[in-house]
Amino acid sequence: MSKIKIAELFYSIQGEGRYMGVPSVFLRTFGCNFKCAGFGMPRGETSHEATDIAATHTMIKAFEKYEQLPLVSTGCDSYASWHPDFKELSPMLTSEAIADRIAEIIPFGEWRDEHLVITGGEPLLGWQRAYPDLLSHPKMTGLKEITFETNGTQKLDPKFKEYLTDWSFGSDEREITFSVSAKLPCSGEKWEEAILPEVVCEYEQVGTAYLKFVIATEEDLKDAERAVEEFRDWGFKGHVYIMPVGGVEQVYALNNRSVADMAMRKGWRYSDRLQVPLFKNEWGT
Ligand code: SF4
Repeated sequence: MSKIKIAELFYSIQGEGRYMGVPSVFLRTFGCNFKCAGFGMPRGETSHEATDIAATHTMIKAFEKYEQLPLVSTGCDSYASWHPDFKELSPMLTSEAIADRIAEIIPFGEWRDEHLVITGGEPLLGWQRAYPDLLSHPKMTGLKEITFETNGTQKLDPKFKEYLTDWSFGSDEREITFSVSAKLPCSGEKWEEAILPEVVCEYEQVGTAYLKFVIATEEDLKDAERAVEEFRDWGFKGHVYIMPVGGVEQVYALNNRSVADMAMRKGWRYSDRLQVPLFKNEWGT
């Protein structure tokens, strides 16, 4: 039976993108190919918040549970889902254990109108071969909609691509979505490693894909325009969303209105981060 290293598994309201407001199960896998230490920092600078927390944890084993870790206002807001110093806080679970836990946390013990979000970390990095076992589990039968929240850098494994195609083939109800949060330079990641249209265009062969850029400034908006041009040149057809930077309320509140204005100006979609005003972006929300 396949196992997946799970940072978090919880039930909440999707706060971002196409399914904003939809009751959703979040399966947060462990591991990412990026660090995104530039978020919320002046250009060219990187956040030390996650590495400082990791240093304390390594010294005194300060945290016993994932939910005890401090939230950060700069860098990746889900740092604990990939930072190697916190890996022991994320258990390896069998698909059986994951399916059982999901049945416990959804309101009726079976899938109805809830949607599954497979997120990270980077969920397409290491676990593509394990998902079919989970998605084929009898307790997952009623599931109709799945979103992969990806950074858009991981090619689909051919067998997984075939599985996903079969999963939704011929069904009016089943739908697969790729919410592609491609990383702009404000993340601190390199353009040539983060903007990979050839990878993202392949997702459109399997389901609906859209781009979702995290934006704080006009400079970020220009980067998003350049990235969209590159994606369109490769034939990408999906929608474009922009979303304010800010895993904590004071940062989010500083720029959500201006990002909404930018979205209207460009004719792109605005994505909120409902989990910030609703739940303060605490772990498990
Ligand atoms: S790609 Fe996502 S999970 Fe990975 S470091 Fe960047 S923001 Fe964090």
